[in-house]
Amino acid sequence: HADAAMYHAKASGRNNYQFFTQKMNQAAAIHFDLESSLRTALAQDQFELYYQPVIDIATRTVHGMEVLLRWRRPGHGLVMPDRFIPILEENGMIVPVGAWVMRQACEQSMEWLRQGLQPVPLAVNLSPRQFMHAGLVAAIRAVLEDSGIAPGLLEFEITETALMQQGEQTLEILRQINAMGLRLSIDDFGTGYSSLAYLKRFPVKKVKIDRAFIKDLETSAEDRAIVSAIIALAGSLQLSTVAEGVETEQQFALLQSKGCRYAQGYLFSAPMPASNARMLLARRGD
Ligand code: C2E
Ligand code: MG
Ligand code: MG
Ligand code: MG
Repeated sequence: HADAAMYHAKASGRNNYQFFTQKMNQAAAIHFDLESSLRTALAQDQFELYYQPVIDIATRTVHGMEVLLRWRRPGHGLVMPDRFIPILEENGMIVPVGAWVMRQACEQSMEWLRQGLQPVPLAVNLSPRQFMHAGLVAAIRAVLEDSGIAPGLLEFEITETALMQQGEQTLEILRQINAMGLRLSIDDFGTGYSSLAYLKRFPVKKVKIDRAFIKDLETSAEDRAIVSAIIALAGSLQLSTVAEGVETEQQFALLQSKGCRYAQGYLFSAPMPASNARMLLARRGD
């Protein structure tokens, strides 16, 4: 892509070439700026957790919450993870930031319990880089001990691609996490290699169907067929399914008719700050 643009710029003369390199320099400058601001973000307490409910389709009640990271960057407002997680991944800062996310989520969970709310499982995203880091299991153990959270209230989401990247070592880490009583889900399912046969080797409890297949569920017969197949195969492996990005009642009804267990999406709620999540949880069971 960039090479093609470069070729085109060169072929069509020096001015275009200069324009192009200027753009490149701008992009590099923005990246550099983001990266250097990120280096101090953790120490300066600029990260925040948002929470998005996962709904039990049969009862339309809150089953759990996914924990989603936000960066409140001075002078830039709230920055979304797609802008900064790849940079943290690239330079390894995702390891300390990810540990902070886990710790913060567990502390929040314990605080809600102290405030008299019903326990709610929280699902934390783990990135490939965190997964490859030798200290992961020890970090999880430390967070469990320090916070005192019941392991059943903490889940991890790992993408399919992250799982497929590594072999036996991944399996061993998953087993250790599982042995601590924590649950594991496969995130963004269907976007990677999608081998459910392979997945049966992993101690995983849930499959999260990627939003890409839910988006056009009403109009696309192909997407309906794919979603049905994922739900059926997951069911035969005793895995429950979560549909991501559910935005309409129609999508919800289709998922219900196909036997999907959980739904997450703007239809119920966008991710929200802890104070709003607390209010939602307090209304639970009313
Ligand atoms: P994800 O884990 O697949 O999270 C779901 C994403 O879908 C979230 O985006 C959520 O806001 C968005 N979403 C939920 N419902 C809807 C909907 O109905 N419509 C649409 N259009 N979008 C919906 P978000 O919060 O921007 O996060 C993006 C990704 O960043 C996450 O995808 C996850 O891969 C990553 N991420 C977020 N927080 C963390 C974290 O703490 N650690 C790591 N390693 N990755 C994280
Ligand atoms: Mg996720
Ligand atoms: Mg996802
Ligand atoms: Mg995603």
